Amino acid sequence: MSSAPGSVESLGHATRGLAWEEPLLFERGRPGRKGVDLDPLDVPEVDPKQLLGEAAVREEIPELPELSEVDVIRHFTRLSTWNYAVDLGLYPLGSCTMKYNPRLNEKVARLPGFAEIHPLQPPEQSQGILELMVRLEEALAEISGLDRVSLQPAAGAQGELAGIMMIRAYHEQRGDPRKKVLIPDSAHGTNPASAALNDFECVPIPSGADGVLHPESVAEVMGPDVAGLMLTNPNTLGLFEEHIVRICEIVHEQGGLVYGDGANLNALMGRSRPGDMGIDVMHFNLHKTFSTPHGGGGPGAGPVGVKNILAPYLPIPVARRDGDRFALDYEFPHSIGRLHGSFGNVGMLVRAWAYVRSLGRDGLRQCSDMAVLNANYLLARLRERWHVPYDRPVMHECVLSDKLLEDCKVTTLDVAKRLIDYGYHPPTIYFPLVVHGALMIEPTESESLEGLDRFAEALLSIEREAREDPDVVRSAPHRTPRSRLDETRAARKPILRWQPS
Ligand SMILES: *Cc1c(COP(=O)(O)O)cnc(C)c1O
Repeated sequence: MSSAPGSVESLGHATRGLAWEEPLLFERGRPGRKGVDLDPLDVPEVDPKQLLGEAAVREEIPELPELSEVDVIRHFTRLSTWNYAVDLGLYPLGSCTMKYNPRLNEKVARLPGFAEIHPLQPPEQSQGILELMVRLEEALAEISGLDRVSLQPAAGAQGELAGIMMIRAYHEQRGDPRKKVLIPDSAHGTNPASAALNDFECVPIPSGADGVLHPESVAEVMGPDVAGLMLTNPNTLGLFEEHIVRICEIVHEQGGLVYGDGANLNALMGRSRPGDMGIDVMHFNLHKTFSTPHGGGGPGAGPVGVKNILAPYLPIPVARRDGDRFALDYEFPHSIGRLHGSFGNVGMLVRAWAYVRSLGRDGLRQCSDMAVLNANYLLARLRERWHVPYDRPVMHECVLSDKLLEDCKVTTLDVAKRLIDYGYHPPTIYFPLVVHGALMIEPTESESLEGLDRFAEALLSIEREAREDPDVVRSAPHRTPRSRLDETRAARKPILRWQPS
């Protein structure tokens, strides 16, 4: 930004029309400014140290900013306009399923009976939410082909942790504790993390030249010391693991169990069921597949579903039907225990239930069908000008790479930054790790044909720019309040104070 003294930029007002610079609240505060007006005290004043004890009372009041209500509201509202969101446009972040969240879900989640209930209210006062939980569990079991579901985990990663804890408990309970977990090289990082947190040794399995896992590679490392295999289907290359039935058999023959990473369920819903393929336990990412808002660290929900052999190990409490009433069951002697202080992120459960019920069986299948069609359409439009490492029909996402741009010295990171100038959130980049310079694109079912065409045109245009004017790509973004940051330095030496430019 130019910064002539006294210029509009140097005064720290608008950067571009109605987009603002934003100082920290600490810099905005002025002593004595207030957001509330309290009436004068009309009860006897008490020394807080007497009331709370010496240790609980500070000698000095920390230097918190003092602000008016309007200062605070404007600060956070302005910051919120810096965000990109699914409600603004395509958000093609591969593996994250950033699809549209219907407003109906929000309406239902705000019903006072759901929004204002306290987690410690006794079951006789919580019949409504318990019924919703039991019905959602039943629906997820039906969708996945599993027998029981716990809604407790608060994220996919915690669902994985719960699943691997159950696998471990299962082997230990049978007097056959095992040491290893097999994980394909295309797996999400949370898979090895969940295994390692359970003291398992992670054994990587290479995917084949066609991008999928082959039974021979699994057979080679499968043995009586292997607790199980963690598998994502479709995998993170967007490819259906076509040998999954045989692979599950190989693991089961040696007493192992198969964990299904369900993050990509958006490609399968209503078409095929992981349980029928041989999966013993999997997590659902309600915030991905079942359209509850996510991103920016917002709440998630990662229910975990199991076949009956793992049901005794489910986290407590387990919600269940009790005649025509609903109850919470704590009598699970082999349970891995509690994962969450209450029932998990209940608001997400309400939204997911509203989504499942409003779409129904056919609607869910249509979502998956459209998600798969959209990904294949994008791939078809891009494959002539972009390198496609595994060029075959995909499921709900497709992976490109920067290989053809090597000559122009333009990388995946440059392309991602340039996409911002075109008005798009960049796709997932440099993942999966098996593809050098990966761009992982998941359009989801939300996009119209015209929307997909616009995005394809943007990528085709960037490819042209890379050849004709590579500097403009290499130095992108140009249309944002800040241009390209030195990301390493920003992480190591963050400068958090606002400085007029
Ligand atoms: C998102 C994701 C996870 C982790 O789920 P969170 O809900 O983010 O914890 C695991 N595996 C894959 C393949 C994912 O895409």
